[in-house]
Amino acid sequence: MPQSEHGVTLASIYAARKRIAGQVTRTPLIRSVALSERFSAEVFLKLETCQPTGAFKLRGATNMIATLIERHGRDALAAGVTTASTGNHGRAVAYAASRLGVPATICLSTLVPANKVAAIEALGATVKRVGNSQDQAFEEVARLVAEASMTLIPPFDDPLIAAGQGTIGVELLEDQPDLDRVFVGLSGGGLLGGIGAALKGIHSRIQVTGISLSKGAAMWESLQAGHPVEVEEVESLGDSLGGGIGLDNRCTFALVREVMDDHFQVSEAAIAQAMVAMLADEKLLVEGAAAVGLAALEEHAIDIRGQKVALIVSGNGVSLETFDQARAIAQR
Ligand SMILES: *Cc1c(COP(=O)(O)O)cnc(C)c1O
Repeated sequence: MPQSEHGVTLASIYAARKRIAGQVTRTPLIRSVALSERFSAEVFLKLETCQPTGAFKLRGATNMIATLIERHGRDALAAGVTTASTGNHGRAVAYAASRLGVPATICLSTLVPANKVAAIEALGATVKRVGNSQDQAFEEVARLVAEASMTLIPPFDDPLIAAGQGTIGVELLEDQPDLDRVFVGLSGGGLLGGIGAALKGIHSRIQVTGISLSKGAAMWESLQAGHPVEVEEVESLGDSLGGGIGLDNRCTFALVREVMDDHFQVSEAAIAQAMVAMLADEKLLVEGAAAVGLAALEEHAIDIRGQKVALIVSGNGVSLETFDQARAIAQR
């Protein structure tokens, strides 16, 4: 296999699979009766909501921390790992580090609500509260890396992170080798890039469809521009799909460009309706980012008749308050 600029290979994904086995849940792929009926197709749901932290990000974080321990020894990580995320990535790093016996420091702005801080502390991490914006929390992370010898665990832009998320692609093919298409939420691109690299690496002909938010979608805008660009962040029910891809993106931009076959954007109304449908029909409480596959099928009337498709149900990081908002939007 030629060495590609993004650094994610099928071999690295299989290595990740071996490394994270036992630390991360091998999640079920279930056939949805209601959605199969509604779309005259075979619709399967990959339930990353079954991870102990409620989202797939545990795969990448566990793979990266375990690899660093393998390569450099546990002592090299004595100062610990760090990142600045209030959401699924922060929870994943806290949990993975604690399982692997490495200290973790998660930097959060003072505006992050107390319940989110407590949730990360409960997973075994030290929370450092700094500044009043996510940017200032990131500055503290950079300082801890430079001055306190901590190791950054990035949310998506690293070959080890993408390879960890790519283990989902291997599992999909084990369970349903003749899938026609997979629908994947797309933000920084670790999830879609990893899954796509696995599927294409195994020479599967499965079509890889990405779904981004309709506003503030950095990867969408960057692909249009042909290089990474910055976008203004917009509030969304799919908050896990917000944020930039990094102007100095070194892995996932090239990877997504290589492995994604087609790409849709979804509105807030469509996300809201899909979240409600996932609860009403599937009895699954999921966050907006995990409902975008269904949202795209509905909003763009994508024709999947007679096909076998999988939707990646990526996480359940949603409060009841936010779910109520989704319900109100869906009823308009
Ligand atoms: C992070 C995340 C995504 C997007 O993953 P990327 O690797 O950033 O593209 C999708 N869904 C959920 C629930 C997430 O936490």
